[in-house]
Amino acid sequence: MDKNTKIALIIGAGPAGLATAYELLKNNSGIRPVIIEKLDCVGGLSRTVYDGNLGVDIGGHRLFTKNKYVQDIWNEFLPVQNSPSIDDIYCEREIEYPKIGCDPNKTDDVMLIRKRYSTIIYDGKTFQYPIKLNLETLSNLGFKTSFCAGLSYIKSLFVKRKENSLEDFLINRFGLVLYSIFFKSYTKKVWGRDASLISSCWGHQRIRKLSLFKTLLNALVSKLNFLKFSKETSLIDEFYYPKLGCSQLWEKMAKYIVNNGGKIILNSEFVDFIIKDRKIIGVRYKNNGEINEIAANYFISSIPIADLVKGIDAPYDIKQNAINLPYRDYILVSFYTDAFNLKNNTDYKTVNNAAPECWIYLQQKDAIASRIQIMNNWSPYLVGDFRKNYLISLEYFVNQNDDFWNLSDEKIIEIASFECEKYNLFRKNNIIKSAVIRELKAYPAYWGTYFELENTKKFLSGFNNLYLIGRNGQHCYNNMDEAMISGINVARKIIGGFDYEK
Ligand SMILES: Cc1cc2nc3c(=O)[nH]c(=O)nc-3n(C[C@H](O)[C@H](O)[C@H](O)COP(=O)(O)OP(=O)(O)OC[C@H]3O[C@@H](n4cnc5c(N)ncnc54)[C@H](O)[C@@H]3O)c2cc1C
Repeated sequence: MDKNTKIALIIGAGPAGLATAYELLKNNSGIRPVIIEKLDCVGGLSRTVYDGNLGVDIGGHRLFTKNKYVQDIWNEFLPVQNSPSIDDIYCEREIEYPKIGCDPNKTDDVMLIRKRYSTIIYDGKTFQYPIKLNLETLSNLGFKTSFCAGLSYIKSLFVKRKENSLEDFLINRFGLVLYSIFFKSYTKKVWGRDASLISSCWGHQRIRKLSLFKTLLNALVSKLNFLKFSKETSLIDEFYYPKLGCSQLWEKMAKYIVNNGGKIILNSEFVDFIIKDRKIIGVRYKNNGEINEIAANYFISSIPIADLVKGIDAPYDIKQNAINLPYRDYILVSFYTDAFNLKNNTDYKTVNNAAPECWIYLQQKDAIASRIQIMNNWSPYLVGDFRKNYLISLEYFVNQNDDFWNLSDEKIIEIASFECEKYNLFRKNNIIKSAVIRELKAYPAYWGTYFELENTKKFLSGFNNLYLIGRNGQHCYNNMDEAMISGINVARKIIGGFDYEK
């Protein structure tokens, strides 16, 4: 490497960090990306955790984007399937796949196209997710509740509340009755606090485009099937998923980066910046207990702002506000089983007629878990023998150091397996293996010092060679594609003369 080569030091090898490095190399910018990553693998929150040939995501990661550039990157590394998967063949499903692509039974490097089925269990009954306008929904709710929900929805169309909180936001879009049934207690479970205490910004960012009116219209239109409307983002019924789990994509990108002159240093945790005359000139990071230094020209961070600011000399209030930014932590309990009792209530053919859902949202008042994830429906290639084994996970939204977090893994498995029996997923004696995965700062939250975020960002922008990207890097509830776009845009800004991705 020429000693005059400029270096872009990227902190974090999740989708945002990898996309930044990719973009710098793809455009022959002459700037060498060097990534430091604290884990022993790439992919960040979007990684897959493997145990031999079994794999689970930290919460199943659906690949869906409206951005063509991102879609093209995904397909550059993993072409879409052009012929049936093993479970399609086994179930004799008649599905048309694109003409161009790869056969998932001949190569591993392939992006599967999966059906998206999700349901909600509420009050002992199963509702389709998103809620569908059909007899099943109305009879589940009962005539009186359906009538009241309809009236309160109509009211919400005309009488708007001032949107100070997520609660106001949701009531304005769904009406008070549906909000009380489907959102109030679930929001509390997911975030650990009442929707009235969460900023409406979250709603604006995540569900701004989902209107119940369009949802109902889509349901009606798909029944009548004579008009085509563009589908709501949250309503898409297919998604992409790498044959060997989400990590497969990130490992492919990492390989591209290394093969094209970039560098990824794993097991390396950011400690602090080396700053000279208000300019960042290097970072210190900890690797195997040793502190190392790297000098660079550009610094791009995808790590939580709370952790980044610890490595910068900042005014007291800026530092405190950043360190106290709120997050929600997460525990996934995964079971490998030889039985799964939930049956299929759809026309879609499934292996052993098992439930076709990717996710089942648990809105029962007494459920501790928030979601059930059925990995067999993400990729049948990740679950051992897909004809007789199942990978079922329960997701718990928690805070680090709360009572649940502090329980031993054994105790958490005991609680989760009790819940699995309760919801008739499988019996304890069907469990072959189980595992607990704990993830800190899985969700950036929108309350408390979140409202001071702009000041923190303004302070950080005073270092003109420091850039914030990604989900926790910007403290913004982003999906993978949005995280990648933020990295791509920073790379383009550094290179100069490019259009930005939207
Ligand atoms: C349960 C769950 C389900 C989700 N489902 C979906 C989905 O279906 N579809 C979708 O598109 N998105 C989904 N997401 C969101 C997705 O995970 C994120 O959008 C994406 O991972 C963000 O990428 P990122 O690179 O910004 O951050 P991250 O993935 O968080 O990557 C940041 C990286 O920085 C590293 N790091 C952290 N601190 C340090 C440090 N001090 N030093 C060095 N390295 C450090 C981390 O180890 C990590 O590798 C989901 C998220 C969760 C939690």
